[in-house]
Amino acid sequence: MTAEIICVGTELLLGDILNTNAQFLSRELAELGISVLHQHVIGDNPARLRELVTQAKNRSDLLIFSGGLGPTEDDLTKETVAEAFGDTLHFDEAEWDKILAFFARTNRRPTENNRKQAMVPTNGHKIINDHGTAPGAWFEDAQGHCAALMPGVPREMKAMWLEQVRPLLLARQNCTIHSHTLRVLGGESAIASKVAPLFESTNPTAAIYCKTGECEIRVTARETTPEAAEAACRERLEEFRRILGDAAYDVDVPALEYTVVRVLREKGLHAATAESCTGGMIAERLTNVPGSSEVFGYGFVTYAEAAKQKLLGVPAETIAQYNVVSGPVAAAMAFGAAKESDAELAVGITGLAGPGGELPGKPVGTVYLAGADARTNTGCLMRLTLGGYRERGVIRARAAMYALDMLRRMALGLPVPDSLAITPDTPATTMDI
Ligand code: ATP
Ligand code: MG
Repeated sequence: MTAEIICVGTELLLGDILNTNAQFLSRELAELGISVLHQHVIGDNPARLRELVTQAKNRSDLLIFSGGLGPTEDDLTKETVAEAFGDTLHFDEAEWDKILAFFARTNRRPTENNRKQAMVPTNGHKIINDHGTAPGAWFEDAQGHCAALMPGVPREMKAMWLEQVRPLLLARQNCTIHSHTLRVLGGESAIASKVAPLFESTNPTAAIYCKTGECEIRVTARETTPEAAEAACRERLEEFRRILGDAAYDVDVPALEYTVVRVLREKGLHAATAESCTGGMIAERLTNVPGSSEVFGYGFVTYAEAAKQKLLGVPAETIAQYNVVSGPVAAAMAFGAAKESDAELAVGITGLAGPGGELPGKPVGTVYLAGADARTNTGCLMRLTLGGYRERGVIRARAAMYALDMLRRMALGLPVPDSLAITPDTPATTMDI
């Protein structure tokens, strides 16, 4: 099936607003396996609209409209499309009652113009709008060409698409769709280059969305039965996981901390955190997850040197000799947190989030992250260089991601990449990385 998207609105042509509806609709249509041949933006001008609709209808099966359903004189989209599809409009009492009720609720009076919004297709049908006043419209001609008219207001358009138009198109194509989202740690270009060929497939489709320190890969399969769609989706996800390895941490979870809490719970483990530069961000993210109290009881925010000594037992000499931003201090924080909390696993983090405070050999963005495993009295230590991100908030957020991932890896017994194996007895000199 082929489609064209037609966004009606003079504000779009003038550049007053960004055409987010077109982006949304293009993505959604691609997911349904419908090829979008053109996107159009057109002003509220019936003559030009008539010309465009006639052309588009001759080359594509489906026309998707947003905008132009408003009550004003210049909103003539519905009339123009009806004519092009050989249909007429008639007044719909039920829609008019809905409009009257809406105005009553908002303490306003409808104008004569609002009656236009209650006009619905005669051969086609109206599309219910549960989120605004104007109903949408569906037209169809003898050759099977269709048009769906939806409101311009993005919130209303999205709701109408998801609740009404999308299911209608799925039923016409006799198929169902399943989607799953794989979450992967790392940057978009690094991830995309590894799995590039998998993005070219048209069924299942895959799309990548970038977030701080990680990406989401959404896989969507289109099949005739839900079981087949689910199976195709799962199979493609496995291919992604095979290539991406353990950087791909979970499917259909809102964020990394959800995976960490789940894994800790499944393994019967507890975690503690000792934070300096992240100031409690790791604890905040963990406690955001419902049920995290089962696996997380202690989060130390030890910003001052005195706090690191008093609460975590970090030796004053270690701080004096190696500086508070150092591997030995991060390691002492992690082992100290595990000891004080009786948790099996702990992370310690200390770094320079900037913008000031640079040290010799330690530019802004230098972060030391240590993990301690009280079961084996072993741990790991890594030095992160996050200065390229410049912003304090981003450096802190990325450091917290690494810490959460370290907890996940320790809980699952996975290797921690680029880390040094340590114990509480490892000489500080070798931890001075
Ligand atoms: P109304 O009844 O509000 O007039 P309508 O269906 O006629 O609705 P428009 O008048 O075209 O829709 O648009 C209403 C508002 O929705 C616009 O002012 C704009 O803020 C937003 N909008 C319209 N089209 C788009 C679009 N393609 N992308 C993003 N926003 C849009
Ligand atoms: Mg309008």
